[in-house]
Amino acid sequence: MTLTLEQVGVAFGGFRALTEVSLAIAPGQVTGLIGPNGAGKTTCVNTLTGFQRPDTGRVVLEGRDMSRLPAHGFRRAGVARTFQAGRLFGGLDVLDNLACTGVGLGMRRAAAEQAAAEVLHWMGLEALESRPAAGLPYTDERRIAIARALIGNPDYLLLDEPAAGMSEKEAADLAGLIRRIATEKGIGCLLIEHNVGLVLSVCAHVVVLDGGRVIEQGDRATILGSAAVREAYFGA
Ligand code: ADP
Repeated sequence: MTLTLEQVGVAFGGFRALTEVSLAIAPGQVTGLIGPNGAGKTTCVNTLTGFQRPDTGRVVLEGRDMSRLPAHGFRRAGVARTFQAGRLFGGLDVLDNLACTGVGLGMRRAAAEQAAAEVLHWMGLEALESRPAAGLPYTDERRIAIARALIGNPDYLLLDEPAAGMSEKEAADLAGLIRRIATEKGIGCLLIEHNVGLVLSVCAHVVVLDGGRVIEQGDRATILGSAAVREAYFGA
């Protein structure tokens, strides 16, 4: 059972952002996705979550072809994501923000509030429940974005640069949270990060993109030993 891209191609006008990209996200594991700027990482996440349709190839969720489904169809099917920038409703408190997501997924209001409280409790963020989303410290805002993605118990979670702008210590805490999401909840995670050290510390399997193609994949040792990866990052 996996969420996969099969030979996916995406073009913007004449520009090929992805060419024959295949990758798989397995339940209970954190898969890393790295590559230089413009490599196609965000386009992969957009394609895996219904925000971008593949021009060629397929997106497959547990055997089901998802390629033509809109983004909300992916979310309802159990594929959640975070965004590079927050997207919280500033005027609402944290609990209401999360509850809104639950209502959007078809839960009744009371059930959505219950789900929101449970996720906050699981993350140790109960203290933030009635804080307005506007004015939250940056790191808390990033954590609430993850909490929001966990509403409705998704099977897959795609994290687009969740550690951007965090200190080493905050990034290490976040790494611990992502590990728990995979191991305790059994969620299949895809982690995109500029912080390659963070990816290698969390992910058993890492996929490397460059110029819209998969140039390497494997475990930490494979990535660190790869001439193709060195060339993509350092041109040598
Ligand atoms: P990454 O996340 O690895 O930095 P992206 O997936 O954001 O890379 O982008 C891959 C390439 O596709 C980049 O060259 C980018 O400029 C281009 N691109 C991304 N989205 C669009 C779009 N909507 N229209 C045109 N070009 C795009």
